[in-house]
Amino acid sequence: MSRAGQKRTGLSVFESSYHSCQKHFAINFGEDVGKSAKTIPASDTGTERFWEDTPLSEMTTAQWESLCDGCGRCCLNKVEDWDTGEIIWTDLACRLLDHDSCRCMDYPNRLAKVPECLQLTPETVGELSWLPPSCAYARLRDGKPLLWWHPLVSGDADTVHAAGISVRGRIKTEIGVPLEEYEEHLVSWPVTDNGK
Ligand code: SF4
Ligand code: SF4
Repeated sequence: MSRAGQKRTGLSVFESSYHSCQKHFAINFGEDVGKSAKTIPASDTGTERFWEDTPLSEMTTAQWESLCDGCGRCCLNKVEDWDTGEIIWTDLACRLLDHDSCRCMDYPNRLAKVPECLQLTPETVGELSWLPPSCAYARLRDGKPLLWWHPLVSGDADTVHAAGISVRGRIKTEIGVPLEEYEEHLVSWPVTDNGK
């Protein structure tokens, strides 16, 4: 994983993957990114609780897409400490992230508009050490269960917000924030899985 960055005052911007792809709920939540729905029909993803016994690499597209909880955390900018290599999160969101729905505002064209955005695949999930511990892809990769607030478990797309897992109400736009001010936006909450 490349970490080329613009070095400044002890931190470098984690460029090549400081945005990651936020999977959208095209099948479960409707085609328009930014929409949300209250319930998730199990019939769209095949067997109920498929994530418990289906390897990431063997999931259908519908199952894979439904794993994203819509938290928006992976769409926050991150920086890398020069000395330690530590990845530190900021509360600065990608310019395409809707701050209320916590979804990408132009998912179909995101890669053209935000070249740093990465597509999550079983392969990239295996390589990305910085995915949030709450992220369903990271949790299943690491052999952990989905928690109660995950929409697939709760059946309610809003529980990710109610539990404080999503970025709603906690972020600012990256637009207009110069790189030298990123240090004023460092936060630790994205690396928790309890919403605190
Ligand atoms: S961190 Fe994971 S679960 Fe959250 S929006 Fe990104 S891909 Fe989806
Ligand atoms: S382009 Fe969209 S999916 Fe990619 S990081 Fe930005 S908001 Fe997230």
